[in-house]
Amino acid sequence: MVDIVLLGAPGAGKGTQAELLRDRLSLPSVSSGDLFRAALSERTPLGLRAKAYMDKGELVPDEITVSMVAERISQKDCAAGVIFDGFPRTAGQAEELDNLFDQMQRRVDIVLYVMVSEGVLLRRLAGRWTCRECGAIYHREFSPEKVQGVCDACGGELYQRPDDTPETQKRRIQVYLQQTAPLEAYYRGKGLLVELDGEQEIDVVQGDIVKAIGAVTTGRAC
Ligand code: ADP
Ligand code: AMP
Repeated sequence: MVDIVLLGAPGAGKGTQAELLRDRLSLPSVSSGDLFRAALSERTPLGLRAKAYMDKGELVPDEITVSMVAERISQKDCAAGVIFDGFPRTAGQAEELDNLFDQMQRRVDIVLYVMVSEGVLLRRLAGRWTCRECGAIYHREFSPEKVQGVCDACGGELYQRPDDTPETQKRRIQVYLQQTAPLEAYYRGKGLLVELDGEQEIDVVQGDIVKAIGAVTTGRAC
């Protein structure tokens, strides 16, 4: 059993690393952003409520986000551990996750803090393309698909997220600095934070992540 949190600014590479890790560890990746986008494409009340915040680059209120994630991690496929991508994003969410995990007799085992400078974040967000079907992530320059506009993994159509416009990107980075960056200190205080150089190539970052997870899981069943 291992429960992993990926922490980092928008565009740091959390989703990219979560995809690789999910395949490597056979654990589900729980992305709150993907859960909101799925709810929105099904036009559920939750999705429609979240849309107003997402469009502006603001965070969806904690009570909506936490109950959605709580429901997701109560599902059977999450019993052996999860990879959180983009959650928690506020101090309140981090505390709620600790409470939820207490009730489940689990704990966050490691927080992987993917560090990337602002200029690089903006370049990454500007070139991000995502598969509409399976959510696979590409970059026009750094990690292109083989056939333009078509997902290598499933043949689905690639699209640019509506919240990847220049104004929204900047707002999301500001919101990250104000509301999410303080989690670094929260998890460092608990001895769970591992800092990673997120500006390296995708495979190199993944190698560092695998090493860090190995260091916390060695010697115990996971
Ligand atoms: P996040 O989930 O943190 O918002 P993503 O995983 O969606 O970030 O990555 C943002 C963009 O940057 C994507 O287009 C992705 O292909 C690209 N990317 C991710 N990691 C790297 C990396 N290490 N080097 C270059 N580009 C990367
Ligand atoms: P992401 O896919 O992680 O980039 O998230 C896209 C958008 O979904 C964010 O800009 C927020 O509006 C919303 N969102 C995703 N995760 C959270 C979260 N943990 N808390 C609040 N809002 C979130």
